[in-house]
Amino acid sequence: MAEPIDCAEAGARLQDYLKRELTPELAAEVRDHLVRCRGCFGHAQFEENLLHLMEARARRETCPSALRERIRGLLRAEADRT
Ligand SMILES: [Zn+2]
Repeated sequence: MAEPIDCAEAGARLQDYLKRELTPELAAEVRDHLVRCRGCFGHAQFEENLLHLMEARARRETCPSALRERIRGLLRAEADRT
């Protein structure tokens, strides 16, 4: 069994952990630390919310509703013609 990681180690891996880019072993160590360490747990939650916000914003920007509307309009026009 590996030594439990400390706060610095957990913090260093946090971003990769939240993006699920760690190996299962490394992720398990971080998760293990988070359930035992209140400070890091709070920090992880904050970072996770931030990550979700940024992902949501990125999705909006790559597919703005105006563009979606235009595509829908084109499809409708196409359907009317046939
Ligand atoms: Zn900690």
